[in-house]
Amino acid sequence: MANTNITKIKSRWILDSRGNPTVETDVYCGDIWARAVVPSGASTGEAEALELRDGGKAFLGKGVMKAVQNVNDILAQKLQKFDVLDQEKIDAEMIAIDGSDNKGNLGANAILSVSLASARLAAKLSNKPLYQYIYEIAYKKTTERFLIPIPQSNVLNGGKHAGSNLSIQEFMILPVGAKNFSHAVQMVAETYQFLKKILTEKYGKSSINVGDEGGFAPNLQTTREALDIIIAAIENAGYTPGLDFVLGLDAAASEFHHNGLYNIDGKKLNEPELVEYFLQLVEEYPLKNIEDPFNEESFEAFAELTRKVRDVNIVVDDLTVTNVKRLQKAINIGAGNSLLLKVNQIGTLTEAISAAMLSMKNYYSVVVSHRSGETCDNFISDLAVGLCNGQTKIGAPCRSDRNSKYNQLLRIEEELNMKATFPKTFKDWRNFI
Ligand code: PEP
Ligand code: MG
Repeated sequence: MANTNITKIKSRWILDSRGNPTVETDVYCGDIWARAVVPSGASTGEAEALELRDGGKAFLGKGVMKAVQNVNDILAQKLQKFDVLDQEKIDAEMIAIDGSDNKGNLGANAILSVSLASARLAAKLSNKPLYQYIYEIAYKKTTERFLIPIPQSNVLNGGKHAGSNLSIQEFMILPVGAKNFSHAVQMVAETYQFLKKILTEKYGKSSINVGDEGGFAPNLQTTREALDIIIAAIENAGYTPGLDFVLGLDAAASEFHHNGLYNIDGKKLNEPELVEYFLQLVEEYPLKNIEDPFNEESFEAFAELTRKVRDVNIVVDDLTVTNVKRLQKAINIGAGNSLLLKVNQIGTLTEAISAAMLSMKNYYSVVVSHRSGETCDNFISDLAVGLCNGQTKIGAPCRSDRNSKYNQLLRIEEELNMKATFPKTFKDWRNFI
């Protein structure tokens, strides 16, 4: 292989799906280059790596010129001649240059854009699909077979992602009965269209406006009302709840937690009552995935719910923020059994991979996830296939920023053909690790 050293890095701002600026970076090796764009959260965890915003008047403070300059003026020069095939070294160097605990000096958005673009360039220079390159740096070996992730599709949006009264942020469907990924996408897309029809008939046209992740955002009042409509949509689409689809929630409960109480369905529940609330939902519905059911510092409540359920993903997101220290704390007390992995919560590919590896070693499943603010960059689709972790959360099958992830997975499945594995039941998905 010819020289694989970085020769140039160029960053700029572009707009994300919410119309806010975000960082896009191109990394070069001679004439060959690759690009990555970073996503941005709304219901962010307090302990996430810092997303550097400019403040001031422009873009209501959300400009990213400082982050862009940190790439163009600092990282572009310091990473000259670094071998792009050495992802760990590139990421370690950026962490060292930043020098803070939370990437607060250069900005996690600046660092991540370089980290992901470097991985893409390395795959290109190695003549490998990105997912294969990621597998090789994660597992330090090669493979012929890849696990295609099951999508967690967020068809109804509430919480901070919508303008409704629903406390729960995400109502998801998981097509566990699908034969393969393309069948899964068909099932999800059909159910989404039936949901649109039912909502229009029952609540009128304004109920089918969509939220940040492309799911509908009707002004419903309770969690059960939302779940009942989704169940009806699954049935109207000709599928069987519990068999073809199971349900998932992301409560993002930090957002409706105040002074030890949780505002949900017009009530104020304390933590033991909220544990019972979720257990009751698990009894009543084919609910197999509950993300962030409690406030982001309530490790014990997460552990309590995890002990009390069987075969349910209790997913840790704001609790652990893709950070191995917080994840280790969760593992030590059994808080959750599934990690939500978001690359921009931690800021480098290397650290995100470490969080995935620590999870799997400790029998936590891993869900590679988008953010509510996205672009059409589909790096995470390759990441989910490369990690062979089996689950991915990529929003509704609507809006190009979400469909770019679905569509990349469709392409990868086609390319892999017989080398792609797609488990058939929820139990298989959970037990695959
Ligand atoms: C989430 O909470 O899982 C999520 C995707 O939302 P955000 O990006 O707003 O944190
Ligand atoms: Mg979440």
